[in-house]
Amino acid sequence: MNRIQPLPSHLVNQIAAGEVVERPASVVKELMENSLDAGATDISVEIEEGGSRLIRIRDNGSGIARDDLTLALSRHATSKIHSLEDLEAIASLGFRGEALPSIASVSRMSITSMVEGDEHGWTLEGRSEEPPRPAPATTAGTTIEVRDLFYNVPARKKFLRTERTEFNHIESLFKSLALGNPAVSMRLQHNRKTIYQLPSADSENALRERLARLCGREFADSLVAIEAAAGDALQLDGWVALPTFSRSQPDLQYFFVNGRMIRDKVVSHAVRQAYQDVLFHGRHPAFVLYLSLDPRQVDVNVHPQKHEVRFRNSRAVHDFLYRSLHHALAEVSPDDQQAAPAFALPVERSQEQGGAGQNPLPLNVPGASSGWQSKPPGSGSSAPGAVREQLHAYHQLLSKEKDEGNPEVQTPPLGYALAQLKGIYILAENEAGLVLVDMHAAHERIVYERLKQAHAEQGIVTQPLLVPLTLHVSQAEAERVEATQQEMAELGLRWERLGHEQIRVRELPALLRDAPVEQLVRDLLSDLMEHGRSQRLQEQSHEILSTMACHGSVRAHRSLTLPEMNALLRDIEQTERSGQCNHGRPTWKQLSLEQLDAFFLRGQ
Ligand code: ADP
Ligand code: MG
Repeated sequence: MNRIQPLPSHLVNQIAAGEVVERPASVVKELMENSLDAGATDISVEIEEGGSRLIRIRDNGSGIARDDLTLALSRHATSKIHSLEDLEAIASLGFRGEALPSIASVSRMSITSMVEGDEHGWTLEGRSEEPPRPAPATTAGTTIEVRDLFYNVPARKKFLRTERTEFNHIESLFKSLALGNPAVSMRLQHNRKTIYQLPSADSENALRERLARLCGREFADSLVAIEAAAGDALQLDGWVALPTFSRSQPDLQYFFVNGRMIRDKVVSHAVRQAYQDVLFHGRHPAFVLYLSLDPRQVDVNVHPQKHEVRFRNSRAVHDFLYRSLHHALAEVSPDDQQAAPAFALPVERSQEQGGAGQNPLPLNVPGASSGWQSKPPGSGSSAPGAVREQLHAYHQLLSKEKDEGNPEVQTPPLGYALAQLKGIYILAENEAGLVLVDMHAAHERIVYERLKQAHAEQGIVTQPLLVPLTLHVSQAEAERVEATQQEMAELGLRWERLGHEQIRVRELPALLRDAPVEQLVRDLLSDLMEHGRSQRLQEQSHEILSTMACHGSVRAHRSLTLPEMNALLRDIEQTERSGQCNHGRPTWKQLSLEQLDAFFLRGQ
């Protein structure tokens, strides 16, 4: 066995860097947080080649005095805490004194800084033993340049993804810091192209504008402002999106605790619960929320990158969040909800029922009892008159089929629809007894099987939109659209990039012609952003088709007419694997007469 020896400090730093500096985005995070801690009101971030060539961050903060420069680069040296008491009430983003030495040990780094009142600045090269040398006079502030990240750690370098992917990580990090610090003006450049130029947002309007730029116009237009306090212990501010602007991924969720963006189970659970009865199952809410509390009440020293926290009283935090959000959501009147686009099944509508096309219903807003749902069409589907009409239509349908067809013709396997239950299930009668159908699940399976078949055989038939749909999206999303244009066209979706943050959708698979286009496209896009790591969409074509089918299928809570329900039943019968939807849930269940009899102890 070798003798024990202390590690050389350079190696110690490189080991620490393994925890702090995972990829270029982590460098950007540490440096921007340092700028914020230094009280900067203006921060500029320049990136080249996804950050592996250059990261340069310039701020107008307090600056670092000449004699402190060398210290800033030594391990566990910080100006932010001095004692255990400080550690228990951290008000700054940094406090471990690890970032600069770690970054310096895995890159070519230089710091140039000037403090107020000095005649000129000073520059220190990260890995040289030389003392700081004079730098030209500027205004107070600090510029840190990080070149050739991981040039001396080939193992790390190998794990870097493409320039695009690394930049996407930087962009989303930048976004969260820009949302977390709205008063600070910020700029992000990539390969000399300006990606974001955000002025300081000091008014309500300016704030909304910043939100729109960072999260998209549609999001900014559907916000409910949150302002709640529990005594002076807890304060919650920010915005949540109306449930009509839900996402298929949890990708628009920003939660800040004392200015620090975190991901936390207690928080997600409280939010999810608050949205529970207003959001369709499987959808994710969108929000930007700021929680302020006494720093003594939250431990931020539980993760090297500090994006996890521990609340001292997590029960109280959970209840406060849940109550505040639940209350705010309950106060939103149905008028605040934009009418969602109409959705219709691709079958003929019966005249007397008034087609669903004229009665747009929210697509993802369940529960009439929650007060969210717009009024049902006409007299209301639960009114006795409507029931009588439904029954009448049903009997007509039955007798018509009997007259026209061979009287010996058997009832189809899934029988004939009797009614719709709670906007979710179709009740039908067949030879064996009662059939219960989950209408969304069933329709999804049908659409998916047809898309798959068409894709494999003659290609998916598309249908141009009457009016092409233009959407504001994030720059990363627009780029994704551009990159996948060709392959998506083969899957029946024609879209193109229109501008920096704009896309246009021209054609959809004809099978989805009645789908809510915008929602479909947004969901698809966020799925692509989340899962689309591989550039080869063809390999994931079934997944994409399944997403399309899911979002393009009739939602629960839309009332169907009897002919629509019957058409759906006939479609299920003709579809392969129609017994379950794409997510593996069953699409229908048979309750036999015997089972029903058993319920009621008949004949026993
Ligand atoms: P920490 O942020 O945990 O203190 P760092 O290694 O990130 O550790 O930074 C070390 C010290 O360098 C900080 O405590 C701060 O005093 C100084 N410093 C770093 N970046 C800046 C900056 N942009 N402006 C002013 N001071 C800075
Ligand atoms: Mg720091």
